[in-house]
Amino acid sequence: MPELDLAVRGGTVVTASETRLADVGIAGGRISALGEVGEARAELDASGLFVLPGVVDAHTHLDAQALPGAPRTADDFESGTIAAACGGVTTVVDYARQHPGRSLAEAAQDWCARAEGKAVIDYGGRDRLLRRQSGRRAERRGRWLSQL
Ligand SMILES: [Zn+2]
Repeated sequence: MPELDLAVRGGTVVTASETRLADVGIAGGRISALGEVGEARAELDASGLFVLPGVVDAHTHLDAQALPGAPRTADDFESGTIAAACGGVTTVVDYARQHPGRSLAEAAQDWCARAEGKAVIDYGGRDRLLRRQSGRRAERRGRWLSQL
């Protein structure tokens, strides 16, 4: 019986260090061989296709509101991550928006509650601190930081 569960054959494999024609062997849900791989219980022909290790979408707004009381985005963490997975995305980094009058900790807790148990791929969160860098916004950043 073959050791591999799946062989993806003939694709152009893209790794962190190179791009080349190679087969990919998968066993137990993990990549176990790259290059020429042996027999597998199932095979996919990737000829003419790129084989990527997984895409990270570092800018999503899932189940988000621009302002309190405003409509939420169309996708929540379940539908949004299912759609992402269908496109080859294995990780999303979502914005955890802090609304006026709420602490950063409250914003993070709210965001975690909306994501918990719904995402079907890996996910992480980020807030808007990185976007506020000058003038009045810098003052606000300081206030956020003092609330941590
Ligand atoms: Zn955005």
